Amino acid sequence: MTNTDASGIAPRGERALGDDRVGLTAANEVELAVTLAASSGLDVATRADRGRWLRAIADGVEAHRDELVALAAEETHLSAARLNGEVTRTATQLRFFADVVDEGSYLEATIDSPDPSLVPPRPELRRMLRPLGVVAVFAASNFPFAFSVLGGDTASALAAGCPVVVKAHPGHPRLSRRITEIARSALSSAGGPVGALQLVEGMEQGTELVAHPRVTAVGFTGSTRGGRALFDLANGRPAPIPFYGELGSINPVVVTRAAVATPAEVAGVAAGLAGSFTRDGGQYCTKPGLVFVPEGAGFEAALVDALGAAAPQRLLTDGIAAAFDRGSGALAERDDAEVVFAGERAADIAAPVVVATTAGAFVAAHETFLEECFGPHTVLVRYGSDEQLAAALDVLEGSLTASIQHAPGEDVAALADRLVRVAGRLVFNGWPTGVAIAWGQHHGGGWPATTASVHTSVGATAIRRWLTPATWQDAPAAVLPPELADGNPLGVPRREDGALVVPSSSVERRVE
Ligand code: NAP
Repeated sequence: MTNTDASGIAPRGERALGDDRVGLTAANEVELAVTLAASSGLDVATRADRGRWLRAIADGVEAHRDELVALAAEETHLSAARLNGEVTRTATQLRFFADVVDEGSYLEATIDSPDPSLVPPRPELRRMLRPLGVVAVFAASNFPFAFSVLGGDTASALAAGCPVVVKAHPGHPRLSRRITEIARSALSSAGGPVGALQLVEGMEQGTELVAHPRVTAVGFTGSTRGGRALFDLANGRPAPIPFYGELGSINPVVVTRAAVATPAEVAGVAAGLAGSFTRDGGQYCTKPGLVFVPEGAGFEAALVDALGAAAPQRLLTDGIAAAFDRGSGALAERDDAEVVFAGERAADIAAPVVVATTAGAFVAAHETFLEECFGPHTVLVRYGSDEQLAAALDVLEGSLTASIQHAPGEDVAALADRLVRVAGRLVFNGWPTGVAIAWGQHHGGGWPATTASVHTSVGATAIRRWLTPATWQDAPAAVLPPELADGNPLGVPRREDGALVVPSSSVERRVE
């Protein structure tokens, strides 16, 4: 029997990792976790079962909502309202990936009939994606539910058929242990493979996990420095593995001159920005950290007015608070930047900071201005002409989002074309914080926003990160996965001899 602390949570070193409750030491923790995950049997489970298990985990999390929110509030200082919303988001995300698995188009199932008349002759080819194997997930600090133990990386990996070993974030260890227990118990009640979800803690354990020969891919959300170190480790292994890191993102916003032509429009855009960059202490990967504003529009004064309503927020960890003070302090001291707003800082409560600079100064020192300052901080870049704006946009780096505040009917096609080259998601007359879970979502971008610009960590295609293709050539029917069998018994969308075949409940719809 495992000992528990006052909250009923097993302390580190005595946590249950598999079907049996096992006493562990730090020395064998990672080895055991990977071994149990690898032998869990998730990789051979049917898609229908995986979908059912994801829904069972979602139900389990929601059934323990109050307990989990209380634990998270204690460890992260985020409000109960925010955390409640995040629990809902997490359950929605688990159910969404169950839908993705059920629907089956993510498999990219493709069949080519043999054709000996071609040069070279074509044999029968049947291709689809299959699970990679054990996946390591580094939980994020800023989303203790939605990007943590049961967050999008874990949900999409389990959906793909990959067992997961989570490296817990040290910012919410008790929550991480408890939610792992809840997920395992839900899996067990639904007849699922309990060993498919493992949890390890500690920096050394994290590096050991990335280096472990049976780990096949890594998902990470956190700092550029930490992500880069682990990315290098993943690539430096004797057998390198894919590393999907979501790191620092500056999320530029362009406010066109026509968008702020009247005082009411200026006030509206300023209020929107104030709400977005201070939301939950600005601790979002999508926080707008760089805003291009037209000179002489009165935007700074309107923003200062709007910031009077910003709610104070204690930051997630002492480390994040110290990094915020360092980063915002360094920018405030620059000769080429001016502090537009610095809220009153109380003990451990962070206050919003806004600095402004010119487009010319931004271009000259863009490497400094483009460094993410995690927390309630944003940089205004004043531009006097379209040419100045274009030169400033030319030095932007990869970002998760880019936004345009424009007038109704204004032609922003050229601006959008410029920004889509650096950002994974373009937002028009809206703010980037708030990332919908949907089939069409993309939450990615070039370096340094991510380490793998062709992938996303939110939305249906996040599952693609944990899959690898295989082609069966002239295979006997008995060895084929059912998704590739003649007659399409499982009814998955397939490309057959070049045509997309999408079975519906009664008829087959052909999209040539
Ligand atoms: P972090 O310091 O990068 O830590 C994230 C995870 O990576 C933790 O589990 C940490 O483990 C591990 N880690 C970091 N460096 C490592 C290394 N060299 N070797 C092995 N493991 C390592 O991120 P954080 O604590 O969440 O926040 C710090 C900064 O990250 C923030 O100030 C912010 O700039 C950024 N951040 C960005 C996002 C985003 O979505 N873009 C989200 C959150 C944070 P240990 O702590 O156990 O060592």
